[in-house]
Amino acid sequence: MKPPIPDYLTDILDHVRGEEGGDVAGYIRELRDADPDLLALALCTTSGHVYAAGDADVEFTMQSISKPFVYALALQELGPDAVNGVVGMEPSGEAFNELSLDQNDNRPVNPMINAGAIAVNQLINGEDSSVEDRLEKIRALFSRLAGRELQVDHGLCASEMATADRNLSIAHMLRNHDIIHDEAHDAVLSYTGQCSILVTTRDLSVMSATLAGGGVQPVTGERILTPEVCRLTLAVMSSAGMYDGAGRWMAGVGIPAKSGVAGGLIGTLPGQLGIATFSPRLDSQGNSVRGVRIFERLSRDMGLHLMSADHHSVPGVRSITREGDSTIIRLQGTINFTAAENILHELGDHSLGGKELILDVSRVTSFNLMGRRMVKEGLRRLREKGFACAIHDPEGVLTDLEFSDGTYADTVAVLP
Ligand code: GLN
Repeated sequence: MKPPIPDYLTDILDHVRGEEGGDVAGYIRELRDADPDLLALALCTTSGHVYAAGDADVEFTMQSISKPFVYALALQELGPDAVNGVVGMEPSGEAFNELSLDQNDNRPVNPMINAGAIAVNQLINGEDSSVEDRLEKIRALFSRLAGRELQVDHGLCASEMATADRNLSIAHMLRNHDIIHDEAHDAVLSYTGQCSILVTTRDLSVMSATLAGGGVQPVTGERILTPEVCRLTLAVMSSAGMYDGAGRWMAGVGIPAKSGVAGGLIGTLPGQLGIATFSPRLDSQGNSVRGVRIFERLSRDMGLHLMSADHHSVPGVRSITREGDSTIIRLQGTINFTAAENILHELGDHSLGGKELILDVSRVTSFNLMGRRMVKEGLRRLREKGFACAIHDPEGVLTDLEFSDGTYADTVAVLP
């Protein structure tokens, strides 16, 4: 069976292509020259299945998407107390490059704005580290998170440094309050280096899924971060990842997220999914216009809002057994996007025998909209491959048996 998820992702990209608002970042040549029409979307489940559409293998710089991952590295290396000593975890409600510190203790309010990120960068590899060693430590961690060797775009980093007056003033302000100790130039160079690491949308989905899975890189299986570090990082992303738009974002989209000015955007759904989008046109807050649209659409269609009630799922497939000429697929639990993904993946892997497939949904508690749509589409595609397909649904949980092509599923009242 050809899985329906990539088709769905392509549909979403086609849907936002007409949205032409926003502009590419204009402050350096490398970002100004970006193709404004590049567009990509990738999902990675915590079981390590990656689905991608559009320009998902085009590289761009991480920019501020590096911030949560360097924060995670600092938490992992030094522990929460030491990190909390230099940066807070309150939402700032301010622009990313605001010269702001907490009025009581002079710490930057959170690690997602530049002041906080510059302070956190300085914690990596010890106080006496050279800029090169610090950046190499970060690049090496990001490479393990992505599952491939990532590179730093040194040309872009040099251009950023030539126009870094605002970040330099932030570094001077941090030095003035004893939050950092490096020369302002070195502190900004090291921070700008982390922003200049090149990734693809596919890489970002896997990196985000590592946070979602409590620190296990889902494709390589390597444990990279502790569950506690991931939990703290996601908590801060949820309250501050979208800068001054963070509150509206959590209400409307409901997925912890982080954006970058090259056009990347990641969202992380704990326990379930890493999501990444790429489109270089930005709104006035520096967030990707089409990226935000895609997330709004995904959250609504797929029922991903973190505050919605249908998140806690058991594996969607209870068993697959054979009775004579029939294969019986028994489903269970709440069928949301991740449960349905698991079902489609199992059905794709399983060499289904016999002539007839029966989908038994009598143990399913409920389907959300996306779960219902995906399971029906999977069944329709299996029918297209020549199987006789029927559904056993004594309680009527599926509510509607119409397929996407207007035909209907057959039903069976009793299982063989
Ligand atoms: N390098 C950029 C800066 O520090 C990153 C900002 C961003 O992506 N929001 O200004």
